[in-house]
Amino acid sequence: MSEKSTYIKDVPAGRLKTFAIENRGDAFSDALRKHIFDQLTASKLIYDDIQPDLVISVGGDGTLLQAFHRYSDQLNGTAFVGVHTGHLGFYADWTAGEVDALVHSIVSEGFNSVEYPLLCVSVSYMDEKPPKNFLALNECTVRSVEGLLVADVMIKGEKFESFRGDGLCFSTPTGSTAYNKGLSGAIIHPSLPSIQLTEIASINNRVYRTVGSPLILPEHHHCQVMPVTDRSFTLSLDHLSSIHDEVQQIEFSVAKEKIRFARFRPFPFWRRVRDSFIG
Ligand code: NAP
Ligand code: MN
Repeated sequence: MSEKSTYIKDVPAGRLKTFAIENRGDAFSDALRKHIFDQLTASKLIYDDIQPDLVISVGGDGTLLQAFHRYSDQLNGTAFVGVHTGHLGFYADWTAGEVDALVHSIVSEGFNSVEYPLLCVSVSYMDEKPPKNFLALNECTVRSVEGLLVADVMIKGEKFESFRGDGLCFSTPTGSTAYNKGLSGAIIHPSLPSIQLTEIASINNRVYRTVGSPLILPEHHHCQVMPVTDRSFTLSLDHLSSIHDEVQQIEFSVAKEKIRFARFRPFPFWRRVRDSFIG
């Protein structure tokens, strides 16, 4: 029986006009890319890597993260699907051997689309420099540029704790099986619009104390990280990393935007978790 939920929407056959392919770049992924390209263009779909209706990622979850960041400013008009050319992926859940069935579904059958929550990161700076907003599909980590991260953690504008340690990780539900899992965070079903905060090696003793447990925040509960003395931070957004100076605060929340995946067959989240981690 297929999973029924409000986060799944139907897209009829023929709605898709344009596609793009994001590719890991190894010889096998390249060959598969060419095969998909030839089949779809022969079926009169148009290759358009500027404004694609569908982005096909050929590689691993990392390739899908790249695809997401390439098209993160046009998520409304774009759906994603992942083909894995390594081990089973969370975002890349079609095998190379299933590509012809995938092409057939794209061309002739239409598909369901499923929407997953994203993380919104808003960095405010001193001296009235305009704030910068970012989206993450897996997670954002906050670290000091060198040494210990010292920062206050606020929830909905109220101080929650003073953090000292290596860093803080804010993850999405679909990112909960990535870095977050390595930090002993919970695995969250993507139908729950939420963000999870996990600690990276916090210092806990008689002087410094943090809650220690991962926190799961619902939509509209914003969490802010506030500098204590050092205002420079290293932020990672999925596979990308950047340094931010003169930071006033960094705010994390469930994003208004969502990522839409084209789903041509049911592959329930918990089955993906089992197949990846239990076998
Ligand atoms: P990478 O070093 O290849 O990624 C590490 C592994 O995480 C890869 O096996 C990747 O799968 C897998 N992965 C990515 N997203 C996942 C998800 N949502 N659920 C389960 N596994 C996932 O680098 P990358 O491919 O560019 O991925 C970047 C991600 O690596 C970051 O977003 C972060 O989550 C993760 N990471 C984890 C740790 C840790 O656990 N200690 C440390 C740093 C980064 P593929 O091989 O299919 O790409
Ligand atoms: Mn990777």
